[in-house]
Amino acid sequence: MRPAAPSSRCSAPAQLNELAFHNIKECFVDAVVNAAGPAAHKVAQLVGRTLPMRDEPGLLDRVRCEKVPVRRVMHAPHVELRPDGPGRVVLHSREIDALIDPDSNLAELSHRLCRLAGDVAPTLCDAELIEAMIAWRPVPVDGFPSVGRVDDLAGYYEAVTHSGITLGPIIGRLLTQEIIDGTVDTLIAPYRPSRFEAVT
Ligand SMILES: Cc1cc2nc3c(=O)[nH]c(=O)nc-3n(C[C@H](O)[C@H](O)[C@H](O)COP(=O)(O)OP(=O)(O)OC[C@H]3O[C@@H](n4cnc5c(N)ncnc54)[C@H](O)[C@@H]3O)c2cc1C
Repeated sequence: MRPAAPSSRCSAPAQLNELAFHNIKECFVDAVVNAAGPAAHKVAQLVGRTLPMRDEPGLLDRVRCEKVPVRRVMHAPHVELRPDGPGRVVLHSREIDALIDPDSNLAELSHRLCRLAGDVAPTLCDAELIEAMIAWRPVPVDGFPSVGRVDDLAGYYEAVTHSGITLGPIIGRLLTQEIIDGTVDTLIAPYRPSRFEAVT
């Protein structure tokens, strides 16, 4: 992303109006939305902005089973399950997430997660683990979404949030409105990106 004013010489670029891609010619744009999820802070750096984010990994197990025991999301006390198509279930547990660190043994954590699922849905005791994945939640440092225009940088917007599966449709609609006519809906007003450090 190229701000109109060179950020190396200028304290704060005024307007973001050009994008450069690998292998593709630059293109001129009216607006750029940083919706890069857990990598949003890296994209923000491209325009000289600091977007502080939490380091919040989560483990997801995908298992294959004879009979899928749930038809919708199930929140049990120690584990969450959701159906993932025929013969498949996805498992998650905040308790297991809390054990993730650089020295964690992924296989061991995955099997613990499967055991928690088997405790609440016995048909999963024989399930086959087909994928275990650690993914990072896109969470700004104060735990709240960062949605809207960055004051110091016209044309640059953020849409960075946890619970983005749930919030995506409403954030998409409200941010579109802001981009088109500048209206900041009261629902997103508390989550302005400019509450974090200004563009440098
Ligand atoms: C374990 C776990 C459990 C979760 N549970 C829930 C839940 O129950 N409910 C819920 O609502 N949310 C949940 N979330 C959060 C949810 O996954 C995210 O909030 C959501 O995925 C955010 O969507 P997004 O489109 O903003 O970002 P993402 O889905 O992360 O997509 C970002 C995209 O940007 C791309 N990208 C990154 N960097 C660049 C770059 N430099 N150039 C071009 N593209 C780039 C990536 O490839 C990716 O395609 C969970 C997350 C985790 C990790």
